[in-house]
Amino acid sequence: MSAPHSATSANGVPTLDVARLREDFPILGQQINGRPLVYLDNAATSQKPVAVIDAIARYYREDNSNVHRGVHALSERATAAYEAARETVRGFLNAASSKEIIFTRGTTEAINLVAQAWGRSTLQPGDEVLITHMEHHSNIVPWQMVCEQTGATLRVAPINERGEVIMDEFERLLGERTKLVAVGHVSNALGTINPVARMIELAHAHEALALVDGAQATPHMVVDVQALGADFYALSGHKMFGPTGIGVLYGREALLDAMPPWQGGGDMIKAVSFEGTLYSDLPYKFEAGTPHIAGGVGLGAAVDYLAGVGREAIAAYEAELLAYTEARLQEVDGLRLIGTAENKAAVASFVLEGVHAHDLGTIVDHHGVAIRAGHHCAMPVMEFFGVAATSRASLAFYNTREEIDALVTALQDAQRIFG
Ligand SMILES: *Cc1c(COP(=O)(O)O)cnc(C)c1O
Repeated sequence: MSAPHSATSANGVPTLDVARLREDFPILGQQINGRPLVYLDNAATSQKPVAVIDAIARYYREDNSNVHRGVHALSERATAAYEAARETVRGFLNAASSKEIIFTRGTTEAINLVAQAWGRSTLQPGDEVLITHMEHHSNIVPWQMVCEQTGATLRVAPINERGEVIMDEFERLLGERTKLVAVGHVSNALGTINPVARMIELAHAHEALALVDGAQATPHMVVDVQALGADFYALSGHKMFGPTGIGVLYGREALLDAMPPWQGGGDMIKAVSFEGTLYSDLPYKFEAGTPHIAGGVGLGAAVDYLAGVGREAIAAYEAELLAYTEARLQEVDGLRLIGTAENKAAVASFVLEGVHAHDLGTIVDHHGVAIRAGHHCAMPVMEFFGVAATSRASLAFYNTREEIDALVTALQDAQRIFG
């Protein structure tokens, strides 16, 4: 890869001043068990910069009100802030219109929305939904549920030993019956970056729609839904330095327009009578009830923050840090990396011979190092690799080589204790 001692990246992409950026994240400054916190659980949730924390606090201090209703000043300000955040997210994803940006609770709710609003009204017995073997549970279970409800069939494209989708098999599984392809952009369990543009192209060639689970992509790389050609794209605010409880479903306007609403209630209607209800226009048709206004504002601030740091620079820095991480992990005796795809982002999953993942997690926590141990909401991936659980170090742009060194020292300590 590139130069061993600096964060300089190739192609003239600006480098990150990580020491300065870390100061934006107050939580990172603390000690755990007498050691500096090393936070390597970013795929579970990321930490929040002051810009996000302050935007939420400012909203509640100065603007808090319900949206889209009141005629008073606070309500107008809250509505303006919430809608400005929607426009910010539109720009972030390069969607054509802010009508295509539906706020949800997160990726999980975004996928359930498509499964229930689109799937339940469209899928017929014999139709097929195609996913891959490496999906997060939230891109499996909603499809199982809607298949059960409609008589459609769930198909699963297999993966290889490196943790990559076998593209020939993926293509072979596409056919006349395929109505939707639902695939993760980046695997949270393996780090694999899927060739989603190609997968979407193949789906469209078979007249199927394509949904992308972007929960692990948006914190790490530039995502352009129009360039990808995605019909639906789901993300979670909390995975990309924003608050929990807020996420986004991007959907192509014509598709969203044709879909029936999912949840019913206030805000998603124009007029209600007992004879029938006239639904709101997009995006409100899919946002029943009082939304997570502060969450939307916080997500908008997170997007602005990410833009300020620079997503190209983040991707370049993290690629180098991941290469360093994998090289250092391989120095640990008995360590096996799970997920060695050619094209990877920000995740190093591994098992250590003779040490249970949960014990490992506890020992490295004594060193102040936070990693994840478990099945990472991807039990079929664990089953494929023949392990009950893995340990996972997942990176963000605020992580450093020194932190990876601390992880490796902690792992070697665990090995001394158990080995
Ligand atoms: C975290 C995650 C989800 C679920 O996101 P929620 O925020 O829990 O709704 C879905 N897919 C992937 C790949 C994830 O990493």
